[in-house]
Amino acid sequence: MTINELFALQQELVSYTGPSGCEQERAAFIADYVRPYADEVFTDALGNLIVHKKGSGARVMADAHMDTTGFIADYIDERGYVKIFVAGGIETYTLPGERIRFKSGAIGVIAAEAKAGIQNKKPEEADIYDLYADLGVKDRASAESLAAPGDPAVFATEPYLQGSKMITPYSDDLLGCVILMAAINEAAAGDNDMYYVFAVQEEVGCRGAVVAAERVRPEYSLTLEMVAADDYLSAEEDPSRIRVGAGPVLRGRDRQTIYDAGFTKLLYEKAAENGIHCQLRYRNAGSNNAQAIQKAGTGAKVACLSIANRYMHSPAEIVSLKDAAEAVSIVRLLPVLELERCI
Ligand SMILES: [Zn+2]
Repeated sequence: MTINELFALQQELVSYTGPSGCEQERAAFIADYVRPYADEVFTDALGNLIVHKKGSGARVMADAHMDTTGFIADYIDERGYVKIFVAGGIETYTLPGERIRFKSGAIGVIAAEAKAGIQNKKPEEADIYDLYADLGVKDRASAESLAAPGDPAVFATEPYLQGSKMITPYSDDLLGCVILMAAINEAAAGDNDMYYVFAVQEEVGCRGAVVAAERVRPEYSLTLEMVAADDYLSAEEDPSRIRVGAGPVLRGRDRQTIYDAGFTKLLYEKAAENGIHCQLRYRNAGSNNAQAIQKAGTGAKVACLSIANRYMHSPAEIVSLKDAAEAVSIVRLLPVLELERCI
């Protein structure tokens, strides 16, 4: 799939207001896209979208999560300000002045009350409960037509393509979903029993993946995710390590998962056979749905293919769509991988 086609899918997925628990519209779009390539497409009680392509070989799952971080309206005060709280991990001290888009399409500017003293706090002391969305209205009645308690909101920035680099909110993990959609579209014909899972509620604790993996009981599972890049100015790690545009990243370990060495090596070698260099990361940091999938049922052999990402969870993440296109070339091979049965 071309970089422009991947970008167009990212634009579509970003257009839905879908933080954790609000993935339904995005799921409906993805379901329509993948249906021609699947034997069955269904959703479970939590809203996970499960795409099954039947086969007689090993039961293999690939997952990406459909939810993003975001904001939920709590209540509207008499002045018309919308009290918001964060869904998922966002650095709250970066937020004042950012534009967010509510489900209605209304735009709010994140504002902090002076009495909350957010300006004088150290970053780690800034609390999301100090924050409101300012819709530019004069009172509660005018605000109520734009946002209601419980309504979700997301960063209002738009994806932008600059060469092969994409500057976008929510590459985590909408770009993972894009890679999975493209890999389903272009899947190699093979024997493995393929389950592609677009999971809900990862950003609040991998809740969707827990039940999806219990249902599928995969023997092997590949998680598609973003990973923090090291090649930015204020990085704490060696900037020559994980780099944007230097190829997809296979993880050996992270904070909650020890990935299966054999499955990971096989993916690394298949990539190399196809002229793709994968970066390797063993750092004990970050985690994702693989930690939940690995422990489902009697256990699964897991791997994680990641895309290096600068400024994760900010309104402007930077990723390489060349890395993403290479990831598609690897994930599309899952149906034909010769995997030993392990159940
Ligand atoms: Zn993620």
